Amino acid sequence: MSSESYRFEVGSFECIAISDGTFAYPYPSQNVFINFFVNAPEDRLVRVLRDHNLDIEHWEEYVSPYICLVISKGQRHVLVDTGAGSFAPTTGKLIPHLEAEGISPEDIDIVILTHGHPDHIGGIIDKEGNPAFPHARYVMWKDEWDFWTSEPNLDELKISDHGKGLLIKVAQDNLLPLRDRINLVSHETEIVPGIRVISAPGHTPGHMVVEVISGSDQLLHISDTVLHPIHLEEPEWYSAVAINPHQVVETRSRILDIASKKNVLTLASHFTFPGLGHVVLKEGRWQWQPI
Ligand SMILES: [Zn+2]
Repeated sequence: MSSESYRFEVGSFECIAISDGTFAYPYPSQNVFINFFVNAPEDRLVRVLRDHNLDIEHWEEYVSPYICLVISKGQRHVLVDTGAGSFAPTTGKLIPHLEAEGISPEDIDIVILTHGHPDHIGGIIDKEGNPAFPHARYVMWKDEWDFWTSEPNLDELKISDHGKGLLIKVAQDNLLPLRDRINLVSHETEIVPGIRVISAPGHTPGHMVVEVISGSDQLLHISDTVLHPIHLEEPEWYSAVAINPHQVVETRSRILDIASKKNVLTLASHFTFPGLGHVVLKEGRWQWQPI
């Protein structure tokens, strides 16, 4: 399996999970595991990490994949998220990886933005300041757009002021130029036949998930509903960047319930590439079963 792109089908849709690269969150200087599970009791966290072969004592960094998705039918291409762009030297690989699959940025018709975090919208504008997908129209949840393009209040986030400033700057630099090309949705909406967006707030105010249905096949792209497989097992543990932690937990239970009950193929943006698998219920706890 290539670590850059992975082709699969959902009924009559051709899909490609495409890597935008990875980002190494250093540990322990930024205490990445604490940041991923900010309200976890420490003794239990250490135990759970050990069960996942993650040693809190000797871990130097946690490498998180950044995964985008292309959903195609004939010559129509829908892209879900744009990656992080020039956020880090290890990110911004989406376009070369797309081109390697025979899809140029000009071919993208619609870009669905699951939410306004840098690793999902950082690739909207290229290094020269031009739209990276020049012919695309964009889709975002209205609450998400309103939040990031006004004066977002990030007081509650458990990250540094520098980090907060960066979130706001990347959001505004990338989103504001889209003013004339964005469609804002405020209820469950079919973007094109077979591709629907569903509200999944908490991680951010207008975070959404994407459902793809064709015939009896289905894919649920849950974006950042969960950031690590441990979030399935411990759905009450939220991350330091969760804007509304209470909603994160509610949304997880609704979305993971759909995924597990229907045994639907699921894509999570930051799981091991290609981020595809199934959410299964075992002894009352959800678990991730990668494909
Ligand atoms: Zn993310």
